[in-house]
Amino acid sequence: MREVVIHNQLWERVCESLFPPSGEEGFAFCVARLCKRRKGSRFLLDIPVPLSEKDIEYRWTAGVALTRKGSDKLNIFSAKLAEKGYIPVHVHSHPEGIPDFSAVDNHYEKTLSLWLKDHGQPFLISVLAPRKGIPMARLWHKGRRFRTKLRVGLKVMSKKTPPFLPALDRQRAFGPLFSTCAANLRVGIIGVGGVGLPVAEQLARCGVRSFLLMDPDTVEKTNLNRLQGLTPKDVGRKKVDVVNGIIQRAGMSVGTRPFVTTIDEDIYNASDRQKNLVKECDLVLALTDDHLSRLVCLELALAGGAEYLQAGVDVRLGNDGAITNLMAEVSGAESGRYCPLCLGRLDPGTASLEARKYVGGEVWGKAKKDGYIPEVASPAVMSLNAVAAGMLVAEIQRRISGLGITDLIQIDLNTGGSLFETDVDRKLIGDCIICGRKGHAQVETVVDKKAG
Ligand SMILES: [Zn+2]
Ligand SMILES: [Zn+2]
Repeated sequence: MREVVIHNQLWERVCESLFPPSGEEGFAFCVARLCKRRKGSRFLLDIPVPLSEKDIEYRWTAGVALTRKGSDKLNIFSAKLAEKGYIPVHVHSHPEGIPDFSAVDNHYEKTLSLWLKDHGQPFLISVLAPRKGIPMARLWHKGRRFRTKLRVGLKVMSKKTPPFLPALDRQRAFGPLFSTCAANLRVGIIGVGGVGLPVAEQLARCGVRSFLLMDPDTVEKTNLNRLQGLTPKDVGRKKVDVVNGIIQRAGMSVGTRPFVTTIDEDIYNASDRQKNLVKECDLVLALTDDHLSRLVCLELALAGGAEYLQAGVDVRLGNDGAITNLMAEVSGAESGRYCPLCLGRLDPGTASLEARKYVGGEVWGKAKKDGYIPEVASPAVMSLNAVAAGMLVAEIQRRISGLGITDLIQIDLNTGGSLFETDVDRKLIGDCIICGRKGHAQVETVVDKKAG
């Protein structure tokens, strides 16, 4: 399977040049990198290359014409990208009434692809954004063209709508694209405990049918206060097997036949093959309760071009042991824009301390003795887990339905405090080595770093 993936902010920026307020059609040039998969390839768009106005000869309602010099410059640059393994991407818009690639596009792109082949660049990607209609992508390889899947953020751009399922009728408000996306997205859930279990069930009941579940744990008696539907008979069973059963039952109820892969392994200890399975998901949900595993999830998602979201709860106690905060939280990441590290929602220091657990030894022992590693399991309740799970699934639904993207959501059910951050990158300064954002750092005023 071939797939072109564009993350949300990049698509927004591309659309600004594709649809100028003047109503003329537009053109944008980007650079993509190839992620090899076990079956097929995923092409990640990650660099937009702005065109100089000097290179544009004229714009009119059906397109943009580059000057001879401008287009030569672009083509030579496109060929050169091959040396670094990058692929040129042409994005253009169409006026209303032309929802597909035109005969002119076919001829022009084929000629260009053959020229690029002769100059050492085997690939060319073309993305079309019709003014009214569904964006689409195709891949040219040495003069031959191939239709490819196109995903923008969580939106799988497809004209094919899945068969109508009466059980899903009441989620019509999220639009027809929602069912299409749900039917096509592969969701990796890392950690299928108190938050992961209800998230899996809710997604399955929304029509999501492809899952990867990863969790090394078995059900313990102390889990039964918060794992819906479980009984003492489930104690000792692998959590991934239990949740697989829940997904299958949910799928049977709504008329889907879910495809689920289970891995009873800690993501930090997972093999390269298992980590690749995570990378190949469209959406990675980090629902574990430690920093290390979330950091690994985040890195895998960013490397593989998957969307990333994490959710968690935090029951905080005062010095006297009384509850001070009942926090539920959802945050995410986008390549080059923001991640939980920028937001102070993941602490690399804690993660590296947690990594010691796997080798044991002095550092782990000392950290435990000094109180950095809590001896007593933190409080966990079903009510708060359900809130976090609902917040996460609602955010996924909002993103797919085009209602917007919230970068960070925090709710404190004890104090009534709440935080909804969008465009959080505009408030950040400094660099981030994880998401690759330039010009941001942890800013104390954005969020309370102690949560999570
Ligand atoms: Zn065209
Ligand atoms: Zn970051």
